[in-house]
Amino acid sequence: MAHRPISAERSDTIGAMSEAPRSNFIREIIEEHNRSGRFGGKVVTRFPPEPNGYLHIGHAKAICIDFGLARDYGGRCHLRFDDTNPTKESQEYVDAIMNDVRWLGFDWGEHLHHASDYFEQLYCWAEQLITAGKAYVDDQSVEEMRESRGTLTEAGRPSPFRDRSVSENLDLFRRMRAGEFPDGSKTLRAKIDMTSGNINLRDPVMYRIRKTPHQRTGDAWCIYPMYDWAHGQSDSIEGVTHSICTLEYEDHRPLYDWYLDALGIFHPQQIEFARLNLSHTVMSKRKLLLLVEGNFVGGWDDPRMPTLAGLRRRGYTPESIRDFCERIGVAKADNMVELALLEHCVREDLNKHAERRMAVLRPLKLVITNYPEGKVELLDAVNNPEDPSAGTRKVPFSRELWIERDDFRDVAPKKYFRLTPGAEVRLRYAYIVKCIDFTLGPDGQVAEVRCTYDPATVGGDSGGRAVKGTIHWVSAPHAVEAEVRLYETLFTRPKPDDEEDFAAALNPNSLTVLTGARLEPSLASVAPGARFQFERNGYFCVDSRDSAPGRLVFNRTVGLRDTWAKIEKAT
Ligand code: ATP
Ligand code: MG
Repeated sequence: MAHRPISAERSDTIGAMSEAPRSNFIREIIEEHNRSGRFGGKVVTRFPPEPNGYLHIGHAKAICIDFGLARDYGGRCHLRFDDTNPTKESQEYVDAIMNDVRWLGFDWGEHLHHASDYFEQLYCWAEQLITAGKAYVDDQSVEEMRESRGTLTEAGRPSPFRDRSVSENLDLFRRMRAGEFPDGSKTLRAKIDMTSGNINLRDPVMYRIRKTPHQRTGDAWCIYPMYDWAHGQSDSIEGVTHSICTLEYEDHRPLYDWYLDALGIFHPQQIEFARLNLSHTVMSKRKLLLLVEGNFVGGWDDPRMPTLAGLRRRGYTPESIRDFCERIGVAKADNMVELALLEHCVREDLNKHAERRMAVLRPLKLVITNYPEGKVELLDAVNNPEDPSAGTRKVPFSRELWIERDDFRDVAPKKYFRLTPGAEVRLRYAYIVKCIDFTLGPDGQVAEVRCTYDPATVGGDSGGRAVKGTIHWVSAPHAVEAEVRLYETLFTRPKPDDEEDFAAALNPNSLTVLTGARLEPSLASVAPGARFQFERNGYFCVDSRDSAPGRLVFNRTVGLRDTWAKIEKAT
């Protein structure tokens, strides 16, 4: 690639061009390794999801770290499925995960791997440990093992099977593989130290028997490796240099290191960072699965879910999620990030890129009594004031319009600058109108608002008046109808994980469905996933699941009011 010329005229942009990634403790470790030559200057990372659920915004943080470091240090990042527990995993999850990582903007190239690719190698290494006297077959049940493992303050007790001979262990392990023993009747354990202060080192289980077919290996195996046994060895096989994971694995690092040293194979460095916790939501896959299976939400891609599939359907852009991950940074201390920051990021992105449209969510008829019947004018509306290149469009104007029910009050409170009998407002991109009357329907609700317009005030001309309010509108005979879904947080409390019954903490108002919204006609044929700002109402996107020709459905991504700025100021 050619070098960019740096001339005087360009000097103001150099800062932006060479914007160095923010340093953090992981980068410092990598740079230290690069200086010392520990990995020959190579940086190989991996993102290792277990295909037992959809990816969520917490995974996005890990993905941005893993793929981001590889990108910034000229290395590579693998996508490796940690598919060691067939009872909870499925191809649906595998496909969804690959789709989500790509959507977020990352590419693993040729490096799509599976822990299950290494089952044979892992098995051979297990035999190697048995032969070296470092692993044994245990006949204890799960309960017996748990009971003899000890506690944080009390050492564990050795299994009565701990001192089996190498040949007996080899024979039993081979017969475990051959399927001679029922589920749960035997395990293979590493022989480390039942008195270790670190419980992970008290003879951890390496293999268990599970006569369950695997989505990739079919029924080739009936013994499956545990996470700790599979993970570090998979890293080593792939030549991963920096194995980055969340803080709960810090206590597993001695075991990670023990296995690699016991085998004497290539030794990656495990590094832990604090996981993302986000307010007003849950992030454990177990809880997300409960929400899906309990029909508390419409599926993994419900727009209220913190999953990438949900956020995408809600209208989030990959750019806004990457920006969010950049802003929250990488640290070792646990903390909780406000949902308002995530919303701020998408609002900022959509403000720049989403075209404006007029849409009336809760329609009320407005009739302009002095506007000629049957007349239609096409008025110019700006597509995006932040982006002049987005141009303008024509919006039809006629005698009968829809306005928001909220933009009229028969009795107006103080400082109400919208429509009320005797008051004037500007109709966006059109005329100033004055309310002269209104009618009530049989239900006692306002049925119709009657106004006169001043033909001299088209566009921006105010005819010398000081009109404070501007409201949006849609021409009634031209309007297209849509269903609009508004969302609030899935949980009422900021920390639903602290609740005893997290399902009871669900926000009963998290979804509001408005049928019969009226949109300007330019929205009649929009592509699924297309994003817009509906003036004064927020950012919306076309629902990719339920919207179809003849049935328009929009999701509100986020409102216009930025609560993050306020939170940031207060802290
Ligand atoms: P569970 O919720 O069941 O504990 P998990 O979220 O750890 O599972 P994995 O599929 O094992 O699920 O996660 C893949 C990677 O994503 C791991 O490296 C994990 O550390 C990371 N990760 C998971 N949750 C978060 C989070 N909230 N913040 C940052 N990284 C995360
Ligand atoms: Mg995990």
